[in-house]
Amino acid sequence: MKKEFIFLGAPASGKGTQTKKLAEELNIPHIDTGSMLRAAVAEETEFGKIAKSYMDQGKLVPVDIVAGIINDRLHKPDCKNGFILDGYPRSKEQAEILEKILADINNNDAKLVVINIDTSEDVLIDRIVNRRSCKNCGAIYNIKFLPPKVDNICDKCGGELVQRKDDTVEVAKNRLETYKNQTQPLIKFYSDKNLLVNIDGNREIDQIYEDIKRHI
Ligand code: AMP
Repeated sequence: MKKEFIFLGAPASGKGTQTKKLAEELNIPHIDTGSMLRAAVAEETEFGKIAKSYMDQGKLVPVDIVAGIINDRLHKPDCKNGFILDGYPRSKEQAEILEKILADINNNDAKLVVINIDTSEDVLIDRIVNRRSCKNCGAIYNIKFLPPKVDNICDKCGGELVQRKDDTVEVAKNRLETYKNQTQPLIKFYSDKNLLVNIDGNREIDQIYEDIKRHI
């Protein structure tokens, strides 16, 4: 049975950390639309140029652009045993598009689980502004709660740690608003379909991970 996962959660809820860990353990691809869009922005592709202004403001990139990216990615052969979606869908419209894509690629041989990492709002901004990630391998750190051994250097690959352009207080507030207005309604959407698992995200990384594994 193919394993398909959607992770929901506010910015800095810990989705990225947990999904990377789980993808590695289950040996299925980790598909993160935020990173894919940042790569398109860095490469200055046609879509990257459009996406940039939305990302800089903490708004959702237009639905057609992200749908195209995700549709191409999910049709790749490495998704045949399943995948983990981190950051998609982010609105009801995107969830409906995803249902169509999955109906196209699956033959009743897949089990979809939606994990919602529930984190209290007061910790999110603090986590966002202290977040750093490795330029090379994407490993995530937090200068307050999960610092690297050597300042600004990735423990895993020695790469330089950088702060994302949208991890500032102003943009983070917009991203949280966008999450509340557009993404949070997906909790009910998937709960009504009996696909949702709620995980308490206000704990240590390892405790959250063990809890996720108990539910899947
Ligand atoms: P993230 O790395 O998941 O926090 O995403 C960073 C930014 O990329 C978001 O604030 C959005 O501007 C954009 N983005 C990522 N995923 C999506 C999506 N599924 N739909 C629209 N925009 C997205």
